[in-house]
Amino acid sequence: MANRRYSFKKGIFFDTDLNFSQRSSYVREILLEKAYPEKLIIPMKQHYGVASIPCVSVGEHVLIGQCVGMPASGTFAVPIHSGISGNVISIDRITLPDGVICDAVVIESDKKRTLHPSIRPRANLNISKSEAVGIIRNAGIVGMGGEGVPTAAKINRAVHMKVNRLLVNCLQSEPYATSDLYRIDEFPDSIVLGAVVSAGASGASTISFCISERRKTERYSLEGAIERAKEKYPNYTYEVLLFKERFPQGNYRMIAKALYDMDFEDNDTLEERCKAVMFNCSTLCAVWEAISENMPLVNRIVTVTDDEGRGHNVLAPIGTPVTDLLGNMENVTIAQRLVVWGNCLTGVAFRDTINTPIIKTTGAITVIRKLEVPETPCIHCGSCLDACPRDLFPSIIARLISTGNIVKANEENAKSCIACGACSFVCPAGIDLTGLIASYVFATKEKDKKSNNSLVETVFNTNFSGLSAVSLLEEYQDETKEKKEAKQEDDGRLIIPFEGGLKV
Ligand code: SF4
Ligand code: SF4
Repeated sequence: MANRRYSFKKGIFFDTDLNFSQRSSYVREILLEKAYPEKLIIPMKQHYGVASIPCVSVGEHVLIGQCVGMPASGTFAVPIHSGISGNVISIDRITLPDGVICDAVVIESDKKRTLHPSIRPRANLNISKSEAVGIIRNAGIVGMGGEGVPTAAKINRAVHMKVNRLLVNCLQSEPYATSDLYRIDEFPDSIVLGAVVSAGASGASTISFCISERRKTERYSLEGAIERAKEKYPNYTYEVLLFKERFPQGNYRMIAKALYDMDFEDNDTLEERCKAVMFNCSTLCAVWEAISENMPLVNRIVTVTDDEGRGHNVLAPIGTPVTDLLGNMENVTIAQRLVVWGNCLTGVAFRDTINTPIIKTTGAITVIRKLEVPETPCIHCGSCLDACPRDLFPSIIARLISTGNIVKANEENAKSCIACGACSFVCPAGIDLTGLIASYVFATKEKDKKSNNSLVETVFNTNFSGLSAVSLLEEYQDETKEKKEAKQEDDGRLIIPFEGGLKV
């Protein structure tokens, strides 16, 4: 396909130790492991928005795919479902590693893995745009790449913004992480069909798959699935866009920079500025499972890895305690390591692996050696400046923040930081630049939101997409408007005249 290679300046290119997943000696997982936890801890807040409310009681028996948490009326939240069958044994107040405090429904498995009767191949897949959005909303699907924005809200916004392009983010660029890449390799048809559904619902006519030029196996899988989709759905334009390998290439701002040469400010959105909407490839897989099987988002693939080349991907029910996933790692003494909830550069280190679950946005659990570089004063080497993909001066901003010179820090554009971790990673002086700058940005945004009387109680992730919570809420809840528009714009029951569900 196209010869052009998209990229942005700066960032990090992992061509040495951290890039082990590209080495021929790296054992790419052939089989996907499956986790069968005895207990799930299902948090009511796993998404961008406010917490949902438990809708089951202690002692109640639940089935796989059954709803256990619902949004309170008038709030921006998503339904939450169980990934195992068993009994609700408690509803606890928990704190997640990123500081979110919420209720969690704790379910003990009956080891029967019984599906809820509503989970079955959809007999009639000839559904309309508004029906597709309703299915995605009820399935509790959120962006699985880390941002956790409800997918139905994003689609509604795309419709209102009249987007014409759907971007599929296949650019997993964190070291060690391969969960999305595994999905692309093994389930390319689900991703492409999920993209067709989402493009149809969003009003996009072009579907662009963004993938690293070095991920040849995954790219060929994707191209094969695109060819198959083209035969059935010829009304869309499909393209594969190749990107130069560079971290943090998967961030939406960096994709916008690479594709459109645009610098995004805090509240800019792809929908508004580029007439494009972007979804992570794993999210689109979940969309297709919801459309074809009526399966809500109850499990995800997680890369469980250390930083020495031992890792694998595990398909785990959402809510699986981290300790159940670490049990599969051999020869790693967890007590001597740091366990990170997420990827090694952008995740959060935590201790309580027994009571901490994976959630809808957890793509990796990374176990890293405690290589504590002694912190020394800045030696003015400029490495952090060279690494910052947002073209900031991390050393200067960090110094301004730590000396309380906030006005100057803002003048240096501190709020543009995307908490990617690149500056801390390259700093030879061992200064935690990201920790300092990202904490300041997070605190400032929280303050701004409170003063704006925002409806979002707690930002789930400092690295969120910059979407306006209030406008998303309006679009999410505006079902009457949506239905009216749907009646006018759904040209019949057009978007997915599929013949049958996927086989499981
Ligand atoms: S963490 Fe922020 S300041 Fe550091 S490199 Fe990333 S964007 Fe730049
Ligand atoms: S990388 Fe570290 S030592 Fe080098 S200029 Fe930046 S803060 Fe200073």
